[in-house]
Amino acid sequence: AARHDVVIVGGGAGGISTAASLLKRNPKLDIAIVEPRAEHYYQPGWTLVGGGVFNRAETMRPMAEVMPAGVKWVRTAAAAFAPEKSQVVLEDGTRLGYRALVLSPGLHLDWDAIDGLRETLGANGVTSNYMFDLAPYTWELTQGLRSGRAIFTQPPMPIKCAGAPQKAMYLSADHWTREGRIGDVQIEFCNAGGVLFGVADYVPALMEYIRKYEVRLGLNERLVAVDGPARTATFAVKDGDAEHMVEKPFDMLHVTPPQRPTDLMRASPFGDAAGWVEVNHQTLQHVRYGDVFGLGDGCSAPNAKTAAAVRKQAPVVAENIVAMLKGEALRAVYDGYGSCPLTVERGRIVLAEFLYGGKVQPSLPTWLIDGRRPSRLAWLLKERMLPWLYWNGMFKAREWLARPTLLPMTPKAHEALPACET
Ligand code: FAD
Repeated sequence: AARHDVVIVGGGAGGISTAASLLKRNPKLDIAIVEPRAEHYYQPGWTLVGGGVFNRAETMRPMAEVMPAGVKWVRTAAAAFAPEKSQVVLEDGTRLGYRALVLSPGLHLDWDAIDGLRETLGANGVTSNYMFDLAPYTWELTQGLRSGRAIFTQPPMPIKCAGAPQKAMYLSADHWTREGRIGDVQIEFCNAGGVLFGVADYVPALMEYIRKYEVRLGLNERLVAVDGPARTATFAVKDGDAEHMVEKPFDMLHVTPPQRPTDLMRASPFGDAAGWVEVNHQTLQHVRYGDVFGLGDGCSAPNAKTAAAVRKQAPVVAENIVAMLKGEALRAVYDGYGSCPLTVERGRIVLAEFLYGGKVQPSLPTWLIDGRRPSRLAWLLKERMLPWLYWNGMFKAREWLARPTLLPMTPKAHEALPACET
């Protein structure tokens, strides 16, 4: 089997950023990225596609363009692992050997977990910003809806970008407000969870918009089935320990699909009980295999699954792999940073930024952006700056963006760290 210094599974946000970060530290490293897709997607842009702000073409680039120079792109999927031989088995049965393995395969959007959903996606008023092809349909439906019921759903956690289900709603609601249609259009947010947003500090600002847009906020309501032609959605509504089914008619339905680890990780030796790549939450090294690291949506660290988290995780993984390859102790630690720019209206954002345990951690001074208040500057950041930071900052490993925290030089220093809150 061909052997590389580093094999990376997944050419998404995590895989590309880590490769760039590794090469910045050691340009001589022989790195292979295993990724079957011809396109790379800037998924955080899909909310703005659904809100009529971005064109979907702006959120896609050919994979070949984002592969860092010098990296070997292996254009196929990883199918299995042989960790005892330090090998990845590819779909055609060939093997790639590694000295270090990085797992960043993202997560699986489980469209099929909702009865009847797949058949009607993209028709009958059923849409989702979680799919490149469908985000434009969200905006088309929003513009076309003059009256009736618009339902936005949120599945159980964890999901990638936990704020995205309500971001879609706010941007549609903003359009209906500007057109004077609120009241004629009745909005419902049906959330399988019990709170509007997981970090309490941001909830008051969001609740103001729930009131402004006259949204009926349904908690503990989980979408289980859709009948597209009949335009009805069925929800399992939790009532204490009991659950009962409620059928609701809709004119527009924005679905955020249930999400789970990929089949590859569930079947691999690297998953935890659910199938998330089981990493040390600080070093991002696998808890059982010292030559394996994980980051991004597919890993077990209890941060908000966002590209913002990947921005901080990639340099940590890169730093630790370089140390591991030299036989040194791992010193770089990830603090759980994640961010969620909640697009509460066109032109304003509630910018949630927090660490493990929901500890609020603003990147900018609060006189510039107070994350707890809707901010115009935060909108400009999301619309103008963040796409640039993704393509030209993270993917070029500009270190001023995310310098990893290094522990003092002691062997196995991370073992002395307190366990982080989940
Ligand atoms: P991905 O970027 O999804 O990449 C995973 C890659 O792995 C894919 O290219 C896939 O093809 C590949 N892969 C899968 N299986 C295999 C295999 N077997 N072999 C080889 N390759 C494989 N984040 C933010 O920071 N801010 C936001 O505002 C924001 N908004 C979002 C809105 C929406 C609608 C969505 C969908 C996401 C949003 N995100 C946001 C989340 C962000 O896009 C993800 O957190 C980020 O892309 C995670 O990176 P990743 O590398 O883990 O996964």
